[in-house]
Amino acid sequence: MKNNYKFIRGKYVLPMNGDREFIRDGLVVVENDRICDIGRYDALIDRYRDMDGEWMEYEDGLIMPGLVSNHTHLYQAMMKGIGSDLCLDDWVINVIYPMALAMKKEDFYDIVRFNILEMISTGTTCFADSMYHHHNLDNIDGVAEAVRDMHMRGMIVRAVQSVNFDERIPDACAEREIEITRAESIRCIKQYDHTENGRIRVGLEALSPFDCDERTIRELYGICEEYDVRFQMHVAEAITEQVRIRSSHNMGVIEYLDKLGVVSDRTLLIHNIWVTPSEIQLIARRRANVAHNPVSNMILADGIAPIPEYLANGITVGLGVDGAASNNNQDMFETMKACVLLHRVNRLDASIMKAYDALEMATISSARSIGWEKEIGSLEVGKKADLIVVKTNSCHMGPQLDVVTNLVFSGNGRDVDTVMIDGDIVMKNREFTMFHAEEIVRRGNECALKIAEKADVFNRINNLGKN
Ligand SMILES: [Zn+2]
Repeated sequence: MKNNYKFIRGKYVLPMNGDREFIRDGLVVVENDRICDIGRYDALIDRYRDMDGEWMEYEDGLIMPGLVSNHTHLYQAMMKGIGSDLCLDDWVINVIYPMALAMKKEDFYDIVRFNILEMISTGTTCFADSMYHHHNLDNIDGVAEAVRDMHMRGMIVRAVQSVNFDERIPDACAEREIEITRAESIRCIKQYDHTENGRIRVGLEALSPFDCDERTIRELYGICEEYDVRFQMHVAEAITEQVRIRSSHNMGVIEYLDKLGVVSDRTLLIHNIWVTPSEIQLIARRRANVAHNPVSNMILADGIAPIPEYLANGITVGLGVDGAASNNNQDMFETMKACVLLHRVNRLDASIMKAYDALEMATISSARSIGWEKEIGSLEVGKKADLIVVKTNSCHMGPQLDVVTNLVFSGNGRDVDTVMIDGDIVMKNREFTMFHAEEIVRRGNECALKIAEKADVFNRINNLGKN
């Protein structure tokens, strides 16, 4: 088969390759699905001038790796905006669970496409999901098929809640039979892991230490080792969790999980806010990874994760948007800025985190945190061609005295002009090239309204104030 070349020239190239390199007037050469050359335009042009291929020139564009959101719940686009002023318990019990339980495979498909459309349009080219509603066992197939059809790269994570810690949570939310958990986890891995030219990977998750019994946590981690896939858990998101584990096990939540043998370099600890200094040392020793979701943590008033301490201890920290229901968007640019601001004000120290640190967390570190750093997360020869072009000539992105700082502090997802995933252009000049955006948006909106009515959430919320 003839090789397919694409040549992308930009005013700036930010490779995120570890050397803090910043190229002016750069060229990225893509051969099929991989980057085959990168550097200054004038140094490379003689080699490629006469070659056939598609040329794209961005006089005011900055080329950088596609952003990697290492934590989200794609299906939660369904619940975006509704009940967001309720307290956490009321919101989860009256909005999240009833709506999720009203969803079928085709609803997951429609809303996940809707969510991924927003991700692509704001420069995210890879994600790690967390999908824990298996009242129909094929719900997760709706997620996988949507990722496939959107030409997105992502890790579909089959998460399991094996117990109900609160009697108000509907029984159908828990998957209690471990034989089903095991069989379905393995089915998902065999059916989807490393499919679609490697765009789709599969991971497993024990939802949280209090949503899962010890046997299920161990079982899921064991399957991950057996099939060499990633393991993740929501950990220490709320202070109540640390208190609960300490009173029942007389140890911290990380110590508890380490006793179960599930804290390792295979593990992604999601949130990880309420941990002790000795637990931070433990995470570093085990080389476990962290998903930091600053916007969601602020919206839900969860607390502030000790990210500067994690970084100082060499722990890999990636950035996530978390589900759209607790964000309320999927824009990684906003998340990068929120991350820097949150930790600066928390420590009363403007030097504690820099714009480049946030870019690193949103690209190569996020990729590393989910075991994908050999393929994505930076623009380097041999890596997959997942890249974005950001427009820098708008008023709000100027003046161009410090372009990298502007990206994080002045930019937003709508500055992304072009998106390439796996060597294919998915969005160009903000036009989607592989699917009908209007239809995806219409179906997503209709689906959310249908499910909200089916789950009777408007009445549920109205009635809350009357009780
Ligand atoms: Zn989450």
